[in-house]
Amino acid sequence: MKYSGGRFFIFFFIVCVIFSATLFGKVTIVVSSGGFDSVGRAAVSEKEIDFWDDDFTDDNACTECFGAMELAVFLPGCVDISSDEIVLSNDTNELPDGDCIIIGSRQSNLLVKKFKLHEGAELENDQSFNIRSFEESGRVITVIEGFDRAGCLYGVYDYLETLGMGFWGLGERGMVWPTEKLKKLPVDLNITESPSFVDRGYKAWEDRDCGEEFFLWMARNRVNFWTSAEQPVHFLKKLCMRLAWGDVDIQARYFKATGPYPYNHKKFKGDENKPADPYPMSAEYIADANDDGTLSYFEAHPEWFCLYKGKRSNYVPLVLGHNFCMSNKDAMDEFCGNVIKSLIDGEYKYVDVLRLRVYDLCKWCECENCQSIGTFSDRNLDLAHQLMTRMKKAQQQGRLKRKVTVLIGAYTEAIAPPTKPLPADFDFDNLIMMMFPIERCYVHGFADPSCSEINCRLKESFLGWKNSPYFTGTMGIAEFYNVSGIKSLPMVYMRIIPRDIPWFHRNGVRHMVYMHVMTELWGTWTINQQLFAKLLWDAELDADKFIDDYFERYYPTTCESSRKFYEHLEDAMCNIKTFKYFVRNAKWEVFTFQKWRAVEGLQKEQDRLCNPEQEIFELEHLKYNKYSPQLNDGPDVVEIMESMRLARKYIDQSLMLCSDKVEQSRLVEDEKRFAYGEAMYNFIYHLIRTGMFHHEGNSMMARMEFASVKVYAEELKEMIDVVNSASEDVNSKNGYEATQMTPIFDFFDAKYGQ
Ligand SMILES: [Zn+2]
Ligand SMILES: [Zn+2]
Repeated sequence: MKYSGGRFFIFFFIVCVIFSATLFGKVTIVVSSGGFDSVGRAAVSEKEIDFWDDDFTDDNACTECFGAMELAVFLPGCVDISSDEIVLSNDTNELPDGDCIIIGSRQSNLLVKKFKLHEGAELENDQSFNIRSFEESGRVITVIEGFDRAGCLYGVYDYLETLGMGFWGLGERGMVWPTEKLKKLPVDLNITESPSFVDRGYKAWEDRDCGEEFFLWMARNRVNFWTSAEQPVHFLKKLCMRLAWGDVDIQARYFKATGPYPYNHKKFKGDENKPADPYPMSAEYIADANDDGTLSYFEAHPEWFCLYKGKRSNYVPLVLGHNFCMSNKDAMDEFCGNVIKSLIDGEYKYVDVLRLRVYDLCKWCECENCQSIGTFSDRNLDLAHQLMTRMKKAQQQGRLKRKVTVLIGAYTEAIAPPTKPLPADFDFDNLIMMMFPIERCYVHGFADPSCSEINCRLKESFLGWKNSPYFTGTMGIAEFYNVSGIKSLPMVYMRIIPRDIPWFHRNGVRHMVYMHVMTELWGTWTINQQLFAKLLWDAELDADKFIDDYFERYYPTTCESSRKFYEHLEDAMCNIKTFKYFVRNAKWEVFTFQKWRAVEGLQKEQDRLCNPEQEIFELEHLKYNKYSPQLNDGPDVVEIMESMRLARKYIDQSLMLCSDKVEQSRLVEDEKRFAYGEAMYNFIYHLIRTGMFHHEGNSMMARMEFASVKVYAEELKEMIDVVNSASEDVNSKNGYEATQMTPIFDFFDAKYGQ
């Protein structure tokens, strides 16, 4: 009896466990799998899907089921539930028993419609979502409704954040989990969000071979702008990325003066198999002038290309070439036709946003008709209009089957606002005018009036566009947080990003990217990545509160010293543009320590450290000793080095204090990037001092300083992976090459190296 009673008790116990697990512990995630037979299958089906056609059922199923899978993976870390108590269901006709989470949009999931939105919570914009939850007959029902599939995915991640999850850094090391799991799913949620900026991401154009970790980080942080160039485009579309391509090489790719003329020219023999020539013969035809047996665009139509110093030029290298004659209608037809062909079925066929950028820092056609179009900004806008008009025609003819946004840039010589009215049918809806303020300073916010030396001129151009009577379209900003010259140094933008992004948003900017994001080994960049993503989603975010939260949760056992490390590091790095790269002052003159080749009409040759004739410290922003003018004050050389010393002190303290393994690995990565910055700054510091003694003619002291430069040069040569985690423009062979001051090093080495 006793024995069998014990067996009965065990049996009863097991029944209770199953009973409670199935009735009280279970959570069902309901999502439509479209035509796919299961949620799991739909979530990984991206390669079978045409994201560029007008059937969105399969696109929706793939993204929304992927969102459901993500929720199933992370939910057990946030609430008191095990993975096997989470059920995925694609039955959108009937509500399952127990707690359930419904994911979908009005178009994709019938159950979503069943539970009405609260008043005032209506969704109207792409990417927006509403999360609502309530108790009904003793169970919790949660609806994650997206306006579209992107909204559904972002709703899932927002829900996880509400539960205490954070995807702050890359991979698992970068994730923060709630310290205490919730006992049940939250009720009475009613969250509606839509992004402050439509496009949020990075300017990219190449295969970074970065794997899925970085892209997943982007999606989980609702960052949605990348490139289609040599990418896993299907995976990226599943994650709702907007893909851009096109750059200053567009003429070299699609309208190469020296490339073959693609038609059967009436006068030329040997091209009879080519299609009939749609253009009239040119009076300037020069036949096969270079005698290579083929007819080039330039040989057939010299008048299509740049008139430079009285002569037509066929100079179209990948960068810094001569822009074609944009007032010539045939040339424009041919250029646009080739670009549109590429958008239809060429290398641009996956492009959502075409960057229509002609050569910068270069030559524009000097013919009378081109000049009468106006300034370089006027010409850029005219070019966009010409292309968009022809694109619209291709769309009406059904040749181009998708919407393509055209992006033009306001950059260097074309940074000023337009001076002439635009055609009445100018298609502002499909255009982004993106400003590239490469010349700016990061000591001061973009709109800070105390930066009258540098940023004020850029702000003026920006406001010129914003208030233009002619340009009434949407603006974008392309920031340069890791511009090529910054070379992935340990930048901290805790002050600048929260100051600038809300200002840009208030002033109408709706698209924002930066160059050149790192895709691994972020270290100290993690906080920049977070602030950038968070503020682009919600420009009104309380950034101070977020930063407090960040240090408390990302560095739980060293919060105080780690924060001090970051603050001193930001002080040390904020004047980076004058210290390591270049800025342009209000007179539009360049300041840099590098040996700087002059570009005609834009800047003068610079060699300030080696040439005693040149002033070393010309800017108010940067002197050697502490200098505190009312306007334009930036950390000076001695202050920069003192901040680096303090940053070192506090990172060392954190490394010693840390008692959490994950946090320790974050600090180790921070320290690695910091050590690179430290070696770089020491190198530049002693190089500047060498230059100062050299200017004084004190060769004994110059020799002594240069001995230190050599020590840091050797140290930098050993640093390789930290300078190879971003784009080709930023990456270097090693830290020494990344100084971009090797010609100065060689000059002093010959003089003082022995
Ligand atoms: Zn011209
Ligand atoms: Zn400044």
